[in-house]
Amino acid sequence: MTRHVPALVVGGGISGLVCAYALRKSGIDAQLVEASPRPGGVINSVTRDGFLLELGPQSFSSTFALRELCADLRILDQLLQAPPRAPRYVLIDGWLRPVPLSPPAFFMSSLINGATKWALVRDILGKSIPPDADESVAAFVRRKFSSQLLDRLVAPFVSGIYAGDPERLSVRSAFPQLYEAEKTADSIVRGMLRSAKSKKGPRERPILQSFRQGNETLVRALANKLGPALLTSTCVAGISLQNDGSFQVRLENRTGNESVSADSLILATPTDVTARLLAALDASFESPLSSIDYAAVAVVSLGYLKKGVGHSLNGFGFLVPRSAGLRVLGSVWNSSLFPGRAPQGHALLTCFVGGTTDPAAAKLQPEELAGLVHREISPLLSITSAPVFSNATIWPRALPQYNLGHADRLAAVSKLCSRFPGLWLSGNYLRGPAIGSCVDQALAVSEEVRSYLAA
Ligand SMILES: Cc1cc2nc3c(=O)[nH]c(=O)nc-3n(C[C@H](O)[C@H](O)[C@H](O)COP(=O)(O)OP(=O)(O)OC[C@H]3O[C@@H](n4cnc5c(N)ncnc54)[C@H](O)[C@@H]3O)c2cc1C
Repeated sequence: MTRHVPALVVGGGISGLVCAYALRKSGIDAQLVEASPRPGGVINSVTRDGFLLELGPQSFSSTFALRELCADLRILDQLLQAPPRAPRYVLIDGWLRPVPLSPPAFFMSSLINGATKWALVRDILGKSIPPDADESVAAFVRRKFSSQLLDRLVAPFVSGIYAGDPERLSVRSAFPQLYEAEKTADSIVRGMLRSAKSKKGPRERPILQSFRQGNETLVRALANKLGPALLTSTCVAGISLQNDGSFQVRLENRTGNESVSADSLILATPTDVTARLLAALDASFESPLSSIDYAAVAVVSLGYLKKGVGHSLNGFGFLVPRSAGLRVLGSVWNSSLFPGRAPQGHALLTCFVGGTTDPAAAKLQPEELAGLVHREISPLLSITSAPVFSNATIWPRALPQYNLGHADRLAAVSKLCSRFPGLWLSGNYLRGPAIGSCVDQALAVSEEVRSYLAA
């Protein structure tokens, strides 16, 4: 017999978990289906040999909605804040140099040449208009500032968020606040200041956070609240539209197949799965969803005896410009940011390798990755002894790329979705890959579903 539910959410990453939780909180009997035995998607915290590892995201920026969610889940007391003034470094000419984080530090910094500083003054005092055509992040920075700023700061920063290529990422989609600032105020700086002033509601300083027991605390709390409404180890294998406009969803698990009919269907799955499932409703979904590229990333954590590391590790970590010729994209110094990440007398560092500019790296074996990272970071951090611990996790589809044409692809998908009342999409390819953006987007979707079901 086919079970009926008012709302079925597919995919138990943070997007699907938050969507299902918010729907249930508003009184809707939503069910969540997750293919793997563990909810959380790429958010995965594990303890090994006394080290608390984050296999995916290392931390997240606080947002108002995330804080509210943590309060609601009663896990606010488990939140940890990274030291707000922890310096971030960038590798320039073989040295780790502090990144200027404030306007005065930027103007004083020897990392930036006079021409770039003058370009910033020109932006503040002058006028510029973004081109009509979608512009890459690289073209935007060269047009407004300089190639030096792109190479030394912007490209490493972009690889820290998207593991992406600034020549291909769309500034309008990947950094909409910059695009909007220039469009509305003819100046990036004036536009950003104006937008900050106009924001209503409480302001939250974006501070990097995690939980005492790792990022997965949020996932566990959401899964606990969902209880039996969360079905793990259950894969959605197919969907079809019924005559009454509801969705027939085929679930597969170890014990067999089951069909569920749902008045509303929320797909919180990565684009390849979403494209495959939606192609059964309309083949036109396939093209725009499948053209969203993903970057493969290897997350490599190394544990060292502190006495074998010459650098103080006082800071957040470092980023590496591609011109430095290393394969490591960047490094997070976990044990400097949050307590309980490494046993007494040890340090835990997590490095990222791969991304769209080095796809071959994610094909290396875990031991090769650990060796490569140790070799590359040792001279930078004066490391004189071998790691006492290593772990490498490869994410073949780690981060969606908001490349040129992304807005058009999403508009095409959204137009197709409007032909199927009751169908919604959620996930990190829509409004930003950060955990906070996924939470915001999932909450917005749950609100739309609630209104739809109430109508
Ligand atoms: C290496 C890495 C580092 C990151 N660093 C940061 C960071 O420092 N800060 C930050 O804020 N963000 C970071 N992010 C980004 C952020 O973690 C992700 O964008 C976000 O967690 C994605 O959540 P999601 O629910 O949209 O997708 P996912 O986590 O991908 O979840 C999708 C879920 O759908 C399930 N699924 C797939 N197919 C089916 C099916 N047929 N049936 C049922 N279920 C299915 C999957 O098993 C998965 O659980 C990082 C991501 C990665 C990979």
